[in-house]
Amino acid sequence: MKKVLITGAAGFLGSHLCDRFIKEGYHVIGMDNLITGDLKNIEHLFKLKNFEFYDHDVSKFVHIPGNLDYILHFASPASPIDYLKIPIQTLKVGSLGTHNLLGLAKEKKSRILIASTSEVYGDPLVHPQTEDYYGNVNTIGPRGVYDEAKRFQESITMAYHTYHKVETRIVRIFNTYGPRMRLNDGRVVPAFIGQALRGEDLTVFGEGLQTRSFCYVDDLIEGIYRLLFSDYVYPVNIGNPNEITIKDFAEEIIKLTGTDQKVIYKPLPVNDPLQRQPDITRAKEILEWQPEIDRSEGMRRTLEYFKSLSQEELYRSEHKDFSSYS
Ligand code: UDP
Repeated sequence: MKKVLITGAAGFLGSHLCDRFIKEGYHVIGMDNLITGDLKNIEHLFKLKNFEFYDHDVSKFVHIPGNLDYILHFASPASPIDYLKIPIQTLKVGSLGTHNLLGLAKEKKSRILIASTSEVYGDPLVHPQTEDYYGNVNTIGPRGVYDEAKRFQESITMAYHTYHKVETRIVRIFNTYGPRMRLNDGRVVPAFIGQALRGEDLTVFGEGLQTRSFCYVDDLIEGIYRLLFSDYVYPVNIGNPNEITIKDFAEEIIKLTGTDQKVIYKPLPVNDPLQRQPDITRAKEILEWQPEIDRSEGMRRTLEYFKSLSQEELYRSEHKDFSSYS
């Protein structure tokens, strides 16, 4: 049985990847230090013989006994609010964590796929964003801790590929949403749905004219799966090109949830990208991949998930005290 290590296994994307690889018949080793992840996302896997879990911080040395065929590095805080609270950990998991996992891949002769992001494009001056755009990132801004960690991650991954001949894959993930997002992580999809379900007004930042392009999680997972098994080593954008302004998105959520709440405006966060839309020509050509689930269907499924949470979860302002992490 082939073995795969998935870091960030208890997180949003990591937990969906665990499900996919279990379904495909792999032995899955999940790893997470549970700063932003939640064991609830994978508790259904603990009873399985071909699932193991290690509570471990990948920015410290990683040891896995025996053979290892694949590594998927998905450990990282992913919400701008989290970067502000845990900036050092965000930098460490993208840099030291990636270094450790590349070292492990070299040792075990595993193929490794790392999760990069549209944030490598920063506040993009090219629209839509193609993989050969170098980006526009403020290194010392609040988002710099994430953006630069991910940019470093791509560099060190290519270096391990070039100099150590490690088999590497790089996915650049654009805004993804779906079940198991943290309700209070501050990102716009759970923020708006949570507000609507609690009967609060929806907080649009700035004038809401900034755009995002939202991809449903199942589509993203399919793209990642295809990329891992392709022979393409350069970065590939995976996302849904259907672009919308945040203001219009708030109206969509109001309609979808049937709430009579209003939109209220709050200050725009520093360095909030004005526009974001993936050019997915490369993914289409190389992976024969494109998104299948449109926003109305994806949001309906996501709403069902958030509705299934308990009242206690819905009203909890944040379920993690980050202060004890180094
Ligand atoms: N946003 C908003 N209200 C919120 C949360 C986010 O208007 O309550 C905006 C945010 O300013 C950004 C967009 O929604 O322009 C997407 O934010 P998110 O944090 O989800 O991710 P980003 O794409 O910025 O990394």
